[in-house]
Amino acid sequence: MGPLIGVLALQGGVEEHLSMLRALNVRTLPVRTLAELEEADALILPGGESPAHYRLLGRLGLLERLRQRICEGMPVWGTCAGAILLAGRITGQEPILHAADYTIERNSYGGQLSSFRAVVSVKGVGDAFPAVFIRAPRIIETGKGVAVLSSWQGHPVACRQAHILVTTFHPELTTDGRFHRYFIESVVGADCKVEP
Ligand code: GLN
Repeated sequence: MGPLIGVLALQGGVEEHLSMLRALNVRTLPVRTLAELEEADALILPGGESPAHYRLLGRLGLLERLRQRICEGMPVWGTCAGAILLAGRITGQEPILHAADYTIERNSYGGQLSSFRAVVSVKGVGDAFPAVFIRAPRIIETGKGVAVLSSWQGHPVACRQAHILVTTFHPELTTDGRFHRYFIESVVGADCKVEP
């Protein structure tokens, strides 16, 4: 049996990640409780609003255990708001999970009207990946242990630090499963039965 991939299901783009994972024949679990957090082998932190995620994680008593599980090596992938949660430093506010060594600035490309698409190359994932940015944060500095997998306009948009993957865009809002497959195969390190 393959790994059980959790998607933090408090707010935001939960269904989109779950359906992308299901299309890749991966076992999935929406995570809302401590028991579900324990059960998941890996976790995706979806986009949405990071302050809402922070508030709900606290209210549901998930925050400390999530920090711990990431410290213990649970593979995790933060998309957009998820990348804000994982950041070691957030411009103008305290970090939340303080999991990886980069600085991020919220809503750094402007507001809702500044949401946009770009086409990027991503190391390990491939070329011509459609990147959807929605009120996206910008990674403005990365530490030595962080590998930049993709940049756009001179700033990292996909990074990896060991078992922690972050993207400031939304692969789950496309029909391109390559990023999810990369997470499963290369970060979670499991077999993912994907049709060619
Ligand atoms: N602007 C949101 C935040 O600061 C992130 C947006 C997103 O996840 N698409 O949390």
